[in-house]
Amino acid sequence: MPVSDLDNAALAERLEAFAGLLDLAGSGYYTTRAYRRAAEMIRTTPAPVAELVREGRARELRGIGPGIEARLRELVETGTIAELDELEREVEPELVGLGRFLGIGPKRFVEIGRALGVRTVAEFRAAAEAGRLREAPGIGPETERKLLAGLARERRPQRGLLLNRARALVEDTASALGGEPAGDPRRWRDLSHELAVVVRTEEPALVLDRFAALPSIVAVVEREERRALGVTVEGIPLEVVAATPERYGTELVRATGSAEWLASLGELPEAEDEEALFARLGLPFVPPELREADAPSPRGPLVELADIRADLHVHTTWSDGKASVLEMGRAARELGYDAIAICDHTPNVRVVPGLDADALRRQAEEVAEANTELAPFRILRGTECDIRADGTLDLPDDVLADLDWVQLSLHAGQRQRGDELTKKVTDAMRHPAVRCLSHPKGRILNHRPPNALDLERVIEVALETGVALEVNGLPDRLDLSAEDARLAVEAGVPLVCSTDAHSVRGLGNMRLSVATARRAGATAADVLNARSSV
Ligand SMILES: [Zn+2]
Ligand SMILES: [Zn+2]
Repeated sequence: MPVSDLDNAALAERLEAFAGLLDLAGSGYYTTRAYRRAAEMIRTTPAPVAELVREGRARELRGIGPGIEARLRELVETGTIAELDELEREVEPELVGLGRFLGIGPKRFVEIGRALGVRTVAEFRAAAEAGRLREAPGIGPETERKLLAGLARERRPQRGLLLNRARALVEDTASALGGEPAGDPRRWRDLSHELAVVVRTEEPALVLDRFAALPSIVAVVEREERRALGVTVEGIPLEVVAATPERYGTELVRATGSAEWLASLGELPEAEDEEALFARLGLPFVPPELREADAPSPRGPLVELADIRADLHVHTTWSDGKASVLEMGRAARELGYDAIAICDHTPNVRVVPGLDADALRRQAEEVAEANTELAPFRILRGTECDIRADGTLDLPDDVLADLDWVQLSLHAGQRQRGDELTKKVTDAMRHPAVRCLSHPKGRILNHRPPNALDLERVIEVALETGVALEVNGLPDRLDLSAEDARLAVEAGVPLVCSTDAHSVRGLGNMRLSVATARRAGATAADVLNARSSV
């Protein structure tokens, strides 16, 4: 295209491609994230970015630093980024994606590819079938077995994809192909291993070609008449099913449910949509979140995002958040909530700024001003109060008593012995000001396992004290997990669905929290901030 025709969408697409290649080349997470964020900003801003770049004003845009500005200038002036073309030749995205899918790091797998003289998935598969894999240096019988099992899809990737990223991938792919998200993220699993999109179409070849050309798909590992398996930069398989209109419901159900759940249904009848399929099976409609072999039986309609009246755990610039009290309040009001609780950290947390009694009093003035502006919407004065090493709360009693909402949090000592941890947390829960226990199990997905807290004991004390348990919506926490939240729901302990947002954008994670509560079988009555009484 003529250089002058580079609109915002085209600029964003090139930057995104560059980010993908940097990622494949092993660039740091923060570099690629900066490019992806800049691409997103350019796509959504009404400002004519190419014009700003030509006038040397690109840095006025949020998130554009000198590095990205230089790439943009090159792109606007020459229509291309030389390093992007070079990277495309060098990193062989198709091999890298396949390598990660098979569990081998980018550098090593490109070496293997070169040793075998292969550059594509088809060539690699042919080499494997011809028994040539062991010609590559360092491939012994063990590695060969692993690679062959991977090609036959007999092993799943060890690390799952976080829910926010998995949802974004299937949602973007579905919207690009005119289909619907499926696979693990449609069940809102905390980690996704299998992603899928189902498209209703009479022209499968066209759909599968468009799928193969998507920038997020670096290699197509398998292709048949009506399905293809692509691989993302992370090596995560994403399957596309091009279903005939008559079988669309059948294929969508098949691509959504867990293997065990599907097996329990027996043979699936042909159906044009999911409602018809369940009717033909003589079953009530099962929400995607409950399509697991061991899912709870719903005791009523599951809680929905629209039921949520307040977000009761958010941060501001007073601690480690990125937005002010007023900005968070205004954004929450725009989401249709009645209230929000500002729960910044207390000093014991140390790694980020914490508020002591004095700071909380000063914050109260800011909250009061914002409330005047946003009424009848209400900003509640809250805290995310640390439990100190000695088990006491990190704020004086009179300050705690004065607040509208007290979240209780353990941030240090997650590896402590179970009995000690449980005593510390349950003693703290007995403080009369405490309303909710934050991220009780302290897990960080793909990074830190759950702590040894005895959840059954915590549930007993929650029933005694009336303290609610949080389903934290941060994608790497989702804590309580669906399995743990189910124990709380079945015991009659109220859940609180919160985002723990550190920015306006973070408020959007409420859907992750609500979906997790749904997987636990929670109705609106089981979720404290979904009731009209908040
Ligand atoms: Zn926390
Ligand atoms: Zn927090």
